[in-house]
Amino acid sequence: MCGIVGYAGNAQAAPILLDGLSKLEYRGYDSAGVCLYSEGTLKVAKAKGRLMNLSNMIDGGNAVSGTIGIGHTRWATHGAPSDVNSHPHMADGGKIVVVHNGIIENYLQLKERLIKAGKSFQSETDTEVVANLVEFYYEDSHDFLTAVRQAISRIEGSYALGLLCVDQPDTLIAVKKDSPLIFGFGSDGNFIASDVPAILSYTREVSYLNDGDMVVFTKNSYRFYNAAGDEIEKTPEHITWEIDAAEKGGYEHFMLKEINEQPKALRDTISPRIKGGEVVLDDIKLTADYLKGLKRIYVVACGSAYYVGCVGKYILEKTCRIPVEPILASEFRYANPILGEDTLVLIISQSGETADTKSALMEAKAQGSRTLAIVNVVGSAIAKAADDVIYTWAGPEIAVATTKAYSTQLSVIYLLAMYIARQLGTVEQEEYAQVLRALEELPEQVMKILAPENIEQIQYYASRCFSHKDAFFIGRNVDSAVGLEGSLKLKEIAYVHSEAYAAGELKHGPISLIEDGTLVVALATVPELFDKTMSNIKEVRARGANVLALTLDCFDEEIHKTVERAMLVPQTHLLLQPSLTVVPLQIFSYYVAVMRGCDVDKPRNLAKSVTVE
Ligand code: GLU
Repeated sequence: MCGIVGYAGNAQAAPILLDGLSKLEYRGYDSAGVCLYSEGTLKVAKAKGRLMNLSNMIDGGNAVSGTIGIGHTRWATHGAPSDVNSHPHMADGGKIVVVHNGIIENYLQLKERLIKAGKSFQSETDTEVVANLVEFYYEDSHDFLTAVRQAISRIEGSYALGLLCVDQPDTLIAVKKDSPLIFGFGSDGNFIASDVPAILSYTREVSYLNDGDMVVFTKNSYRFYNAAGDEIEKTPEHITWEIDAAEKGGYEHFMLKEINEQPKALRDTISPRIKGGEVVLDDIKLTADYLKGLKRIYVVACGSAYYVGCVGKYILEKTCRIPVEPILASEFRYANPILGEDTLVLIISQSGETADTKSALMEAKAQGSRTLAIVNVVGSAIAKAADDVIYTWAGPEIAVATTKAYSTQLSVIYLLAMYIARQLGTVEQEEYAQVLRALEELPEQVMKILAPENIEQIQYYASRCFSHKDAFFIGRNVDSAVGLEGSLKLKEIAYVHSEAYAAGELKHGPISLIEDGTLVVALATVPELFDKTMSNIKEVRARGANVLALTLDCFDEEIHKTVERAMLVPQTHLLLQPSLTVVPLQIFSYYVAVMRGCDVDKPRNLAKSVTVE
């Protein structure tokens, strides 16, 4: 789930491992550890909490010598975050040490058998089973590679593994299935890592391991094998992007930087896809015949990407006249969805590694539906597995709470809606042209929302609201869907209990929770529903709510007749309005979180890329 770094070279390994792990912190973690081969033994140092704890423990790496080692940041799945559950895990006999990202699904059966065979366990993790299983086989064959292979053939689940053996102290073995892992070709040693930033200061030549691939390497040699055990060639890919791209660039937090990167991210995503007044999606192969046969579209995703799907429902249904159902990936798999050739499954994931989403994709494919993925990470598992992919070109997103990935995903929905509607003939030429023009103007309009005077005003509203413990987001039509995202932002980064409702639904239940001083963020950007939303605002005000409104700048005067505080956004084409509405909500949550002293970029309990079910 989180981070792995490994190194075999001429330099001292511990500082390199700590540095690499620090570049993976954005992935979210609860503990960290390293293991080095040092003076004839495998030395493990690990600690719950921030990487700093580990670094202090080993004096920034100076306290452990050795030129080969593995490091890990853990996001607990089996056993609570604790020192003993942290990785690396050493086998009972001290011969094998392992770091692992993922989940070993059959670990309980394996553990039982290993206990019967005399192995004892220290931790509650699934990972410790791998260490002991490899050691169990090693005791028999005395061959590290054979033992790893035998163990791999017995484990089920997802893994990226880095392994060391005390008897073969120059060798590191790594293998992966359903968890990301790369190999780095260095000039002064070789590396493994779960992501490029971890090793970018040392090498730009990397190779992505495929599922089942294994690499066996020393400081000056490497051999790759595929799942069948055959030796394979891997050619290095040159990474061109700069590490600065993954740094804060002068902003206090990655999240604020990424909020401000939205105009560029939108431009990068939209403009190459509009050519000569037409949406051009070169890479996708949805023919008019296929589209005409469609009975439904599922949008399958998790978290904010799912909320993109909730907005997408309004957009796609309105323009393509095909029923659209957004569904959470974790539910989709077990809901017996109606799949087949007449159902298109849209899959949305920033990382392209989201485990639930990936499983849903596989299910859809297995049942004969075409799958189209909207993904930010080129070459990620979901991107590889889907029938068609449209990449969001948002660049690396480091803050755990998404902003620019959400916005670019939404922009792809518009492009796709126009692409499909055009082929189906469900959109008038005039409207098609208007939407495309509005899409091209979107980055500029987001830029206006990001003007300093606007930010200052939202910051002021945040200062009036940050102490609230509860919030309600209300809105109608697309506003109700954007409210879901606004509400999630407040929950995840500011730890404010927040709920989002369709405004018309309030009086069917939730209004009973409105009392003196309750914060209600009311979205009213749909002109034809403005009056109806205003009635809902009046209802909550009458019960004492403290209302923060969000509306179009043309309603400035009107809204202030009822509420004191209103965030304003420019008007765009009705379909695209959510792309502007969401921006003040991101900024509002950001400042509320800052004012509440929260760790904005790394909210508690959350991980950027959720690669376990
Ligand atoms: N399942 C393992 C554990 O809970 C690995 C988690 C991770 O990927 O960090 O320790």
